[in-house]
Amino acid sequence: MPRRRTSLFALATLVAGGIAAAGPAAAQEPLPEKRSLAIGTGGAVATVDPDATRIGLEVLADGGNAADAAVAAAAALGVTEPYSAGIGGGGFFVYHDAATGTVSTIDGRETAPLAMGADAFLDEQGDPLPFQEAVQSGLSVGTPGTPLTWARALELFGTLPLSEALAGATRLADEGFVVDETFRQQTAENEEKFRRFPATVELFLPGGALPEVGTRLRNPDLARTYELLAAEGVEPMYSGALAEDVVRTAQDPTEAPGTAPVRAGLLELGDLERYEALVREPTRIEYRGLEVYGMAPPSSGGSTVGEALNVLERFPLADVPEDAALHHYLEASALAFADRNAYVGDPAHVQVPLAELLSDEFAAERACGIAPDRALTKPLPAGDPDGEYGPCPAEAAATPPAGQEGPSTTHLTVADADGNVASYTLTIEQTGGSGITVPGRGFLLNNELTDFTFAPADVSTPEPNLPAPGKRPRSSMAPTIVLQDGAPVLALGSPGGATIITTVLQTLVGRVDRDLSLLDAIAAPRASQRNAAAGQAEPGFIEAHGPQLTALGHAFTPTPEIGAATGIELLPGGLLLAAAEPERRGGGSAGVVQDVLVEADGLAPDLG
Ligand code: GLU
Repeated sequence: MPRRRTSLFALATLVAGGIAAAGPAAAQEPLPEKRSLAIGTGGAVATVDPDATRIGLEVLADGGNAADAAVAAAAALGVTEPYSAGIGGGGFFVYHDAATGTVSTIDGRETAPLAMGADAFLDEQGDPLPFQEAVQSGLSVGTPGTPLTWARALELFGTLPLSEALAGATRLADEGFVVDETFRQQTAENEEKFRRFPATVELFLPGGALPEVGTRLRNPDLARTYELLAAEGVEPMYSGALAEDVVRTAQDPTEAPGTAPVRAGLLELGDLERYEALVREPTRIEYRGLEVYGMAPPSSGGSTVGEALNVLERFPLADVPEDAALHHYLEASALAFADRNAYVGDPAHVQVPLAELLSDEFAAERACGIAPDRALTKPLPAGDPDGEYGPCPAEAAATPPAGQEGPSTTHLTVADADGNVASYTLTIEQTGGSGITVPGRGFLLNNELTDFTFAPADVSTPEPNLPAPGKRPRSSMAPTIVLQDGAPVLALGSPGGATIITTVLQTLVGRVDRDLSLLDAIAAPRASQRNAAAGQAEPGFIEAHGPQLTALGHAFTPTPEIGAATGIELLPGGLLLAAAEPERRGGGSAGVVQDVLVEADGLAPDLG
């Protein structure tokens, strides 16, 4: 987190860098231009992908609002980011509605079949299934929530019918998109998994080979599926022929000849028919005079980001050296993860002490162990959010580590000129999901049910995230919207499994406390401490901060990249600033309806 503001020079470099990176010489077709920063008026969109950003901006330019554009961009990501998002998956939609001044959320989380019991991910000997065996199976497929999320978002907040919101993505699926290096690499990483399922080979390994950078990948099957939804609404996905295809495929995916059969899915038509995208109260905490809204359980995003911020608010992070601020960030994150792992699950199945987890009193108790000159020994025990808080409690047993979560998913942020803001994270869980394509329909099925904890780490400790009939697995997705004096000022989110939480938290600390511009806060090297003996850290983070932080007792495992954030800031005077990764995941794509040139000092007004 370098403490500096984006200069106009830096801005020009990043923008040009984004464009240059997008056009390798070997390309048969040029890749669409993308930039990591855009400032202007009329609305803004930030996604990982230039086609999705363009389609969202077109909707805004045509008079659609942030909800319309978010659905349009998400549908486009189903085409260009099919390994991270699509109608075979789920997600969480957080929305600021300017007309009412309220923040609401839609929980479109995939859901376990009624036939799924607590032992679903144990083998015949009672041992947890190998993770990849569970991923690549019908068993891991939960009822998709994304189609109903789109329908609910449009019905509650939008101005367009689904048919119009899907029009751009349908065209994109028909015409195809130009394969970039990231897409090719993700396909290569999934090749073995994809080759198990002929329908997936047909779709993503054209002619049986990896798609070449610069070639066009079309998905007419998905275009027809979008047309079906445009004509009939999302019902066919939950009770019609499309639903029957989903269920049949999950129950008995067609494998390539000679491939060992995968575990069968438990989904029934009744599971799809009964599925609901739920409107939930957002989580809300106050941080340095700002209101931070996030996603409530079954996501642990809002509660964990919120608890960590409440802990951090007790320390003057703006006034200490950068390494000291990062030390506190890592400690607060570890504490909040201990509590997340112990207490957060689907609220329909477990009592989540959400109000206590987000209370200042609980945060004060949790913060009391943080010392400026030494790191706590991890893993840390969970706290006791029981409403009775006193002096620092005695040491208790360490909380069990969280289950395995994948590094996939995608986040998009949209704001319109009226102050409506959508912060939407969607996923099919692992990159490439289960690897199973619904034949003839053009989309992959999720493996979201592997987000359940397969078996309790310790039988004497309650585990809130075991599978159960009709339960939603705990998520880490953390779409966030920040208000100041009742008006939205910032929205952001990221993919990255459980690192989503730390990416959002670190970016907020960078922007709010360290006075970085949003782009600098997003670009800063990341570390993720999730209550493990060693946190993960990017090489740039280790290089810049490793010696100072390890001297305090922190440990880091290097990892090439953490997260791929996007965000939008609503600047004074009605300007919108959209920011996306300059480099991670090949760089994201930020855009505004109408560009405006701005002096550097306007890029990072004081927040909080
Ligand atoms: N399934 C994860 C979650 O809901 C997200 C997947 C990822 O980002 O890798 O938290």
